[in-house]
Amino acid sequence: MLPAFFDSVVSLIARTSTDLPPDVRKAMGLALDTEERETRAGQALTIIAQNIDQAASCEGPICQDTGMPTFEVKVPVGLNQIWMKQQIREAVAEATRRAKLRPNSVDSITGENSGDNLGPGTPIVHFEQWEDDEIEIKLILKGGGCENTNAQYSLPTDLDHLGRADRSLEGVRKCILHAVWKAQGKGCSPGAVGVCVGGDRTSGYVHAKEQLFRTLEDVNPDPRLAQIEESVMRDANQLTVGPMGFGGKTSLIGCKIGALNRLPASFFVSIAYDCWAFRRLGVRLDAGSGAINSWLYRDGDTPSVPMLTPEQMAAGLPRTGREIRLSAPISDEQIRALKVGDVVLLSGRVFTGRDAVHAHLMKNDPPVDLRGGVLYHCGPVVTKEGDTWHITAAGPTTSIREEPCQADIIRRYGVRVVMGKGGMGARTLAGLKESGAVYLNAVGGAAQFYARCIDRVDGVSLMQFGTPEAMWHLNVRDFPAMVTMDAHGNSLHKDIEEASGERLEAVR
Ligand code: SF4
Repeated sequence: MLPAFFDSVVSLIARTSTDLPPDVRKAMGLALDTEERETRAGQALTIIAQNIDQAASCEGPICQDTGMPTFEVKVPVGLNQIWMKQQIREAVAEATRRAKLRPNSVDSITGENSGDNLGPGTPIVHFEQWEDDEIEIKLILKGGGCENTNAQYSLPTDLDHLGRADRSLEGVRKCILHAVWKAQGKGCSPGAVGVCVGGDRTSGYVHAKEQLFRTLEDVNPDPRLAQIEESVMRDANQLTVGPMGFGGKTSLIGCKIGALNRLPASFFVSIAYDCWAFRRLGVRLDAGSGAINSWLYRDGDTPSVPMLTPEQMAAGLPRTGREIRLSAPISDEQIRALKVGDVVLLSGRVFTGRDAVHAHLMKNDPPVDLRGGVLYHCGPVVTKEGDTWHITAAGPTTSIREEPCQADIIRRYGVRVVMGKGGMGARTLAGLKESGAVYLNAVGGAAQFYARCIDRVDGVSLMQFGTPEAMWHLNVRDFPAMVTMDAHGNSLHKDIEEASGERLEAVR
């Protein structure tokens, strides 16, 4: 039965995870062209562009969070969907073994990672029959950081800075702008939004995510929705949330709206936010063999057009000469000299730690000495050759999840630098000031770029939490990140949120 089907699905997963489609590349190229290279936004976008090219050339994951694999499959009448679903599951496990996907499927009760991206609800596979004589498979890999910024509104409602949103297209427009503003840099902006007007709470979110299968360039066939899409794109990019929430001219690269009928009593607006690492591709398969006949969203035989020239790639991060070099152990004096907006080049020892490590540290002493050290919110993709570990993708994860305990951990164990993405809240800001520490914002999703800043893996602790959640002991060199929360009570995230909130009032 369909002898090439399995290999075709593995190829689809591998390419989706490692090579952004042309429409997303083009949108990110335009974003890069609109920023001065040496600004915060320009530096972040340059790192992103390098990362996109590096991922494609080494066939490594664009972002270490390879997301929830979501397949939309259309099949001719008469084909066995039970068999196909099993093959898709096996292809997901194989792509995980090949490190194209990070093990991302976790038991929701015990927290145990299945290790192969299989489990109840993972992967998501939707089937539909159609009259065509080919099989079509579309895949989207949407990570946790941007998934957490999804939003659902029940109209009418009152929105910060925008006032009342009624049951009208104008109300819909306000909800979308509000969601983009709320996301700030947490979903690794610039992002794209898929929107559903109507449906119920469940179908609304599904339909919103389905909108992300439209290309960024297509025009909505419904002129009423096309007009809202256009106005949201214009207004959202005046908010100056910017890449990574650093401020800048591009906050949104796409807005795609669909509509479902609703109950008279309900009016939901559901918003699926996807990050710049907008990984979606598709294939059409021969229904007799399962071989790939053609690719969707791209020409499968033509290599992707690079984001940067070889000279730009060789030049690396645009330097201003004001970058500050730091290596652990870091002193109180060094930390107090840093201020918001400084770009730091880290070298030496860095320890990773995300949710499981933070929960562990609240009840147990750390397995390593963290005094003067760097705690990196990161769940890398890791492979092992013999006894040697290799990090193949290592961008930052969303830091705000650690807000409840971060200040305690900094104080108890003498951590000097917390690094992640999206920023943290008031409690951590106060903790940084009290203990003499800073928060560094690395560029979210830049997993290949940062993997190349890691000289070696010196060890690992807490492996019982699985590879993404373990504490990796990394030795890094010239690892760039920006001080966005300093030891003097300043937060770039707070400033940008307030400033963009004022701009939101201007477009209400
Ligand atoms: S780019 Fe950011 S939001 Fe997107 S999957 Fe990666 S870490 Fe998550």
